Amino acid sequence: MFRRIMIANRGEIAMRILRCCHELGIETVTACSYEDRNSLPVQLSTDSVCIGPASAAQSYLNQDALIEAAKAKSCDAIHPGYGFLSENAEFAEECEKNGIAWIGPDADMIRRMGDKQEAKALMKKNGVPVVPGSDGLLSGVDEARKIAGKVGYPVLLKATAGGGGRGMRIANSASELESAYANASAEAEAAFGNGALYLEKLIRNPRHIEVQILGDKSGHIIHLGERDCSLQRRNQKLVEEAPARCLTDRQRAAIYKAALRAAKAAKYVSAGTVEFVLDHDGNFYFIEMNTRIQVEHSVTEMVTGVDLIREQIRIAAGLTLYMKQSDLKIRGHAIECRINAENPEAGFAPCPGRLDFLHLPAGFGVRCENALYPGCTVSPYYDSMIAKVIVHAPGRLAAIRKMRVALEEMVIEGFPTNIEFQYFLMYDQDYMRNEFDTSFLASHTDTILGWMKESR
Ligand code: ADP
Repeated sequence: MFRRIMIANRGEIAMRILRCCHELGIETVTACSYEDRNSLPVQLSTDSVCIGPASAAQSYLNQDALIEAAKAKSCDAIHPGYGFLSENAEFAEECEKNGIAWIGPDADMIRRMGDKQEAKALMKKNGVPVVPGSDGLLSGVDEARKIAGKVGYPVLLKATAGGGGRGMRIANSASELESAYANASAEAEAAFGNGALYLEKLIRNPRHIEVQILGDKSGHIIHLGERDCSLQRRNQKLVEEAPARCLTDRQRAAIYKAALRAAKAAKYVSAGTVEFVLDHDGNFYFIEMNTRIQVEHSVTEMVTGVDLIREQIRIAAGLTLYMKQSDLKIRGHAIECRINAENPEAGFAPCPGRLDFLHLPAGFGVRCENALYPGCTVSPYYDSMIAKVIVHAPGRLAAIRKMRVALEEMVIEGFPTNIEFQYFLMYDQDYMRNEFDTSFLASHTDTILGWMKESR
């Protein structure tokens, strides 16, 4: 087992990793930017090291500084969390080259799965259903037009290097194809340095269903059930739950089978997620594989009782999975609300600031992951997500009721947050009836904002 792990991240996920390491008797070194020098993970870790100024490019993405710091602080492993360098194959390789274990799948896996078109081709070859579209990368608009004609409009132009919803454009008809192609490619080139595109049929208003996977270095691969992450605002997830109650037992079994087949085809090692879109006829299609821990891993932990960060660390240390597929039991229902420092009434604009007053929810089946404390500052330099409220109850409706109580209790003063928005969302009839898909927030946000206004 590792002796000392460097946490190359910040905020709630740094706290999550830190706690897990300390439970395992592993020391932690938090790598932080100068901006984060007083952060909670810095204060609570065994040791910390400043790796650069506020800008992520110079700190959390500064590979050389991180490797040097890890060596100087005698760390034998690095946990990248999510975002930042977590899906950077080059960095994973650099860590290993410097004798520092990478807590995640190896560089080759990150590279192969990070190339979405390549991942899709591998899945198709192994009998995993994929969205109809181009076989391989597009040579240009002409080829896109030909394939779009075959699969039928609307279509989605997607960057093979894409992530976070960037490098993706819809074309509703042939006349929109040229500009969609140019925009998707330019955005991907700017964001990822790779403008290569592939084409997929647009599945109209699907559900986003994903399956959690764990694989160890001895070749054991298991799934830990699914999550429904359909509540998204501009491709950013806002509320996640487990299990996905929209699935029939047969669909669920089929999606597990496909996810396992996908993970086995990739010979997957570590924690990973196989993402699918589910259409209104119950057909599901692979869209991508994420090679890192995800923000929403917590809902899976609540319904399975498995500590996914602990498993990630154990797997990286070469230990075998401690459980078999047949040991998996899904109990009850879990919901996660992401709490952001943003103003829903001003177009969800990020609102960093100093936190003046804080009261966090607690109680039976309530979990709040965060790195907040009274007087701390939420920085404009990083993501606006500042906390996750996760509840676990015997059923979905009971979980919704628990979430309402938790959000009602939660107080953050000093800057606007989306707590109230999430609270009213928990009263939406369509949400309560489990009638939603990825278009839900686009069509329901104004209603929820209206309730917020009326309530004052
Ligand atoms: P990223 O890595 O940028 O998040 P994804 O491929 O995971 O990109 O897609 C992001 C979201 O876009 C998905 O959660 C899903 O809601 C939607 N999406 C992706 N592919 C399709 C498709 N073919 N049809 C409809 N929606 C899609």
